[in-house]
Amino acid sequence: MKVLVINCGSSSLKYQVIDMDGEKLLAKGLVERIGMDGSVITHEKIGDDKVKTEVPMKDHNDAIAQVLAAVQDKDHGVVASMDEIGAVGHRVVHAGEKYAQSVLITDDVIKALEECIELAPLHNPANLMGIAACQKLMPSTPMVAVFDTAFHQTMPAESYIYAVPYEYYEKYGVRRYGFHGTSHKYVSQRAAAMLGKDLKDLKIITCHLGNGASCAAVNGGKVYDTSMGLTPLEGLVMGTRSGDLDPAIVSFVGAKEGLDLAGMDTVLNKKSGVLGISGVSSDFRDIEEAMKDGNERAGLALDVFAKRVKGYIGSYFAEMNGCDAIVFTAGVGENSASMRAKICENMDALGIKIDEELNNVRGEERIISAADSKIKILLIPTNEELMIARDTLELVEA
Ligand code: ADP
Repeated sequence: MKVLVINCGSSSLKYQVIDMDGEKLLAKGLVERIGMDGSVITHEKIGDDKVKTEVPMKDHNDAIAQVLAAVQDKDHGVVASMDEIGAVGHRVVHAGEKYAQSVLITDDVIKALEECIELAPLHNPANLMGIAACQKLMPSTPMVAVFDTAFHQTMPAESYIYAVPYEYYEKYGVRRYGFHGTSHKYVSQRAAAMLGKDLKDLKIITCHLGNGASCAAVNGGKVYDTSMGLTPLEGLVMGTRSGDLDPAIVSFVGAKEGLDLAGMDTVLNKKSGVLGISGVSSDFRDIEEAMKDGNERAGLALDVFAKRVKGYIGSYFAEMNGCDAIVFTAGVGENSASMRAKICENMDALGIKIDEELNNVRGEERIISAADSKIKILLIPTNEELMIARDTLELVEA
């Protein structure tokens, strides 16, 4: 069966077509500037050059229509008609406590996801628009929703309850949910395969370090703890997000700068993180360049980022009473050898030792720990789309 995977943002959309016979990627693409001037679709039939087409797209219906046209295009397409697409898998960010697994999309599911909009006001509405647009254009094709929060639903209450009045959990669902779940699940499964062990017998710390970043403690295939919280703002330092901080900073800085709560929310989500510290960029490549050119704040931003990851590794090590493997994935985790080395530096007391030679690699599955490292360090490129396609196939076949 061929599966179309859709990851819909508010003004952009990523897609892939995967042939599940052999899990072969056939095509992928990106739509940008939906609802703005200069909307554009970049489509790539695997093995061919990318084709970039500027075409007006006033909403997500137009965007999905362009995606369907691209995958059926007689020169660059990968199917003769949409009848060849057996199912569509949608990435959905927040399912609250409602779903711990992927689900076949029904009217009830849509209703439940609408109820979660409050918890993910930037993401869920876009995800729902993508689903509605696909349902309109492919009314008889089954659709599946795969949630960022689902894998983390195995967390015990001691990991997800905040130390605020308990009634806020009961009344408003204030708890830690965690995100990047599809990625943490994929890399933990791959780690077990690479180590030739059963996931049930492993304690793994997965570090998804991209523009958004999170760690997870995966014990026996279940999430014991994760660093993102009610929203994707908590935890690690990120491109533009602060991660953990003293909550009193919100009222203190808000009063000094004359910012209301929404203004402070913007500061912490969009102007903080390595961008806020360095003043250079949210992109780690730019910051690493600036540091090499002698920019001290760029160096400081990288140090603060690495120290926070180290802290979570130590914390999860203690929480799980041990660790068999640490996994690095996502943009920074897969590509920045220097950041991986910085994070693992001076951790031999915990039995963590990176091998400089083996670590000198980008975007390839590999064990990068030294031979005498008690804990294995793994580099694993994530593949959330494949996970979405696998769940979609499984649910549709059932
Ligand atoms: P997201 O999906 O959260 O937007 P990604 O996982 O795609 O993020 O990661 C994007 C980040 O990866 C970029 O901000 C960039 O800083 C970082 N990155 C990509 N390539 C490199 C590289 N060669 N060296 C350092 N950082 C890199």
